[in-house]
Amino acid sequence: MKNLPFSKDTLMRITDAFPTPFHLYDEEALRARVRALRQAFQWNEGYREYYAVKACPNPVILSILRDEGCGLDCSSYTELMLADAINVRDEGIMFSSNDTPAEEYRYARRLGAYINLDDVTHIDFLAANGGIPETVCCRFNPGGDWSLSNAIMDDPKDAKYGFTRAQLSDGFKRLQALGAKHFGLHAFLVSNAMDPDYYPALAKLLFDTARALHEETGADIAFVNLSGGVGIPYLPDAPEADIAAIGKGVEKAYHAAFDGTALHPSLFTELGRYVTGPIGYLVTRVMHEKRIYKHFIGVDACAADLMRPAMYGAYHHITVMGKENAPCDHVYDVTGALCENNDKFAIDRRLPQIDMGDLLVIHDTGAHGHSMGYNYNGKLRSAELLLQKDGNARMIRRAETPADYFATLDILGLDKLR
Ligand SMILES: *Cc1c(COP(=O)(O)O)cnc(C)c1O
Repeated sequence: MKNLPFSKDTLMRITDAFPTPFHLYDEEALRARVRALRQAFQWNEGYREYYAVKACPNPVILSILRDEGCGLDCSSYTELMLADAINVRDEGIMFSSNDTPAEEYRYARRLGAYINLDDVTHIDFLAANGGIPETVCCRFNPGGDWSLSNAIMDDPKDAKYGFTRAQLSDGFKRLQALGAKHFGLHAFLVSNAMDPDYYPALAKLLFDTARALHEETGADIAFVNLSGGVGIPYLPDAPEADIAAIGKGVEKAYHAAFDGTALHPSLFTELGRYVTGPIGYLVTRVMHEKRIYKHFIGVDACAADLMRPAMYGAYHHITVMGKENAPCDHVYDVTGALCENNDKFAIDRRLPQIDMGDLLVIHDTGAHGHSMGYNYNGKLRSAELLLQKDGNARMIRRAETPADYFATLDILGLDKLR
């Protein structure tokens, strides 16, 4: 059973003011999640969460996170612009990009961001495009198989990210020769990890590697960045990650690696899904019911609003509003309108009887939800709303209009199509 932070009456009030579909984000739950995360790592004096902007790049959400003490993990020009626009700069930004254009490095350097280099060849590229900062981070790819891996990311040896271990040694020395004084070490190996040992195991790997690099090169290790990847329970009976226990597991690895050494690096994370995934809901209305060889429910949202089911076959729980306690004695495919047969939010899902006009709430859409949206079939992406403490919703991004879709045809004079 997955609970909702709003009643059917509240939701009906919201849908009177804002047409479906929309993503609805729960501000109070967001603040509570960040606070619990920071609490889990408060044993580390320099701890900071750099929220992965790509998971939910809305400036209102990002401002809430900023006010809760988070920095921002950016990986593109426009994500840097978003950080800049809400006055997050300097050590508030972690620029964790890959295959990086020169202009993006220059912009990140102008903003004073931490630079997290994805490849050994990027050292000289950065030196030529913005310059090497005093503190710089390198992304590690340990290769081989990572036993906790799942389908979202490849095994490290197949993944495109990071330096090999040997390249880290060479890279640190090259960076020192170019003036770098302090170093960070980063790795991101698994997305949506449900194993509570993922972070502690990754931490041990990074801590041991950081220590060895220090012994080998004399480099000061300023921080270790555990990146993202802590999972959330999309399935109703899956356990919630115990972030306090994960924090303790990382603390133990920290002491084992650094006690008695001169190193006391700050600990950073770049969680996206963990922070905002569960606080977002895609609200959609039932438009059609179709019976052929299967029983279909057609809703007014589609994969353009939430791509994860179509892309990964991901499970997203669905609540039929007002029927929370009704028996799940029907089996439906819940579909959107794309001319693309994988545009299904649920396949063979047991749900209560659905009637035309019912509101469906699709859970856990606050990360990699709206932000992964696209315009296939000329579909327009939905609005984003913030559910505030007082129970009122505030629009924090309007829905796209045809004018948005046609905006890039201005060169043909067709952008005024409406
Ligand atoms: C996507 C990403 C994250 C966030 O991943 P989650 O699975 O949402 O926690 C963090 N760091 C980097 C470099 C990423 O690419």
